[in-house]
Amino acid sequence: MSTDDVARTAPAISLRGVAKSFDGGTLALRGCDVDIEVGEFVAIVGASGSGKSTLLNILGTLDRPDRGEYLLLGRRLGELPERELCRLRKETFSFVFQESHVLREETAARNAALGLRVQGVPRRERPGAVTRGLARVGLGHRWSTRGRHLSGGERQRLAFARAASTGAPILLADEPTGNLDSRNSEELIHQLKQLNAEGTTVVVVTHDERVAAAARRRIRIEDGEVREDDPHSTPTRPVPNLRTDPLSRGPGRARWDPLDDVSDAVSSATSRIVRSAMVVLAFALGVAGLTASVGLSESAAAQVSQRISAAALDEITVTAAGDPTTQHEFFARTAQIRDDLNRLEGVRGSGVSATLSSQECSVTVLPPQSVPGQSRFRGELVAADGAWLGLQGAVESVPGAVAAFDAATVRGRPAVLVGEGAARTLGLDRVTAGQQLWIDGRRVEVVGAIRSAARAPGLGDAVVVNFASLAGRAGLSPVLLVRTEDGYPAALRSAIPLVLNPAQPGAYTVALTADLRSLHRGVSADLADLVRVVSWALLLFSGLGAASAMYLAVQSRSAEIALRRALGASRPSIARIFLLEGAVLGLGGGLLGSALGVAAVVVYCLLQRWTAVLSPELVWWGTGIGAGVGIAAAVYPALAAATGSIAERIRG
Ligand code: ADP
Ligand code: MG
Repeated sequence: MSTDDVARTAPAISLRGVAKSFDGGTLALRGCDVDIEVGEFVAIVGASGSGKSTLLNILGTLDRPDRGEYLLLGRRLGELPERELCRLRKETFSFVFQESHVLREETAARNAALGLRVQGVPRRERPGAVTRGLARVGLGHRWSTRGRHLSGGERQRLAFARAASTGAPILLADEPTGNLDSRNSEELIHQLKQLNAEGTTVVVVTHDERVAAAARRRIRIEDGEVREDDPHSTPTRPVPNLRTDPLSRGPGRARWDPLDDVSDAVSSATSRIVRSAMVVLAFALGVAGLTASVGLSESAAAQVSQRISAAALDEITVTAAGDPTTQHEFFARTAQIRDDLNRLEGVRGSGVSATLSSQECSVTVLPPQSVPGQSRFRGELVAADGAWLGLQGAVESVPGAVAAFDAATVRGRPAVLVGEGAARTLGLDRVTAGQQLWIDGRRVEVVGAIRSAARAPGLGDAVVVNFASLAGRAGLSPVLLVRTEDGYPAALRSAIPLVLNPAQPGAYTVALTADLRSLHRGVSADLADLVRVVSWALLLFSGLGAASAMYLAVQSRSAEIALRRALGASRPSIARIFLLEGAVLGLGGGLLGSALGVAAVVVYCLLQRWTAVLSPELVWWGTGIGAGVGIAAAVYPALAAATGSIAERIRG
């Protein structure tokens, strides 16, 4: 006999000595022999816990027996690989369970088409089948209604339509009326009978006497054994739809349609909107951090190098090498030195400054002796002359402040200029002449305020005193700033020590700001590295958060996964759904994050008056990273979804 001859005469399904036990030692089936002929309508009945569902799952290849044989149209399934089993399920079986497992957020039409999508029925052929399927269960008018808006009875009819639309030759149902009232039960029984009359082999597990009565044959299970089988019922008519060997059938017209997967992923992401929003937000924060850190460090680096380049062109600093005595002499001589330097060709001007930390010197608003507990100024304290302020491009809040500062200096009177930022931290609402500060316990007159300084950022947050305010103070390290014509610093560098002290040129250190450039680059690169490490860590954490959210989603979609697998979806195709969903969410998060990151850079640079440095690739880069992290975060959830037993998932 050829395989086709066997297929023509063999029962649809034969089980021989099938046994199944579960962890914990339950022997659910103990050696069952069951033959189901093509075209039959069989009811499997028995007490609860007798093994009916276990038998049905094995019949539907949702579970494998521990012992015994399964023959489909006379062909042994044996150890058929999982991939082949999927194809078999897809082409041979459809299922209706007690729970309808209708996807709540999907329309009735999409729900009804689920089997067709898994089968790979071409897109244009689906609407016809779906319309017929919905019409036969009386849901023709409900095709656009979401699952959650359907009544329990309608959902179960939809589940029936989903099964019937696939055209599978064998329908397996487990307590399909278990949750239905009598009117809906009658309706479903009618549908089962009609489907059987059209040629579909129907096997239904049931408690419901009316369902059992509708079947032509009854198999009673007790304690995992077939106790009663009415062998007289045979199908009343020849049935055409399961007479070719399902194992030797070619791949047929089924084709994987990537658009289906994408639409599944998008629909799943958009139907669980709050969860998706959280996941997208997690990705967005991670990507925004990264984009902002890259953008900011590039903008900052550009800013620093711009500033240093400008300084390199026209700036020299002179300091005295060595001990406090030399420093003191140097300071005492600065007036003379400045005169000497200002006469050199290429020198535009010079000025003196010295910086003190707030530890070295106390600045208070009230006399420290009479108000001991008051807070001290914590910012930068700069001692300078008016020339230095001019060279740094200091901008006064009210014109005349620097002139007043100079005038006081000439007369040897202590004077202080307050940066606007420093004034705020000191609690001086408005700086007016006649106010005073206490510097190291000495009263110093406030002569005005400074808004900013083009060449000395940070001066707006500092307190600037003249040297008269610090008279008698030891340990100052004055720095002489020399502003030159553009391009002169290098030439002047060797000339200056000789001018200052021909006998001992080594007494002074002359530095070009250009020397700082490489140092500064190094520092900002280190800083950028640090920020980047932190950002990647942030991205990692947001990915982990998203992964756990997706894992929970997999858990909550267990029934849907089981349903898809029962309809014949392969493990890889299940994994693909979750990976794609991860990619979709990651992509969304990446786009949003890039936008947020870019916005942060732009706003920060505006506030700092920097030029924002943003390469257009940054957005693509951020989006790509978002998608990548999305996929990575979905790997474990996808694996969890793809593995695991179908029967277990159906049980819930
Ligand atoms: P029925 O559908 O007739 O109510 P089942 O086939 O669901 O019965 O279960 C038969 C027996 O096997 C029961 O004792 C049940 O507890 C046990 N059983 C079924 N599935 C599992 C499982 N996955 N793990 C452990 N025990 C199970
Ligand atoms: Mg059961």
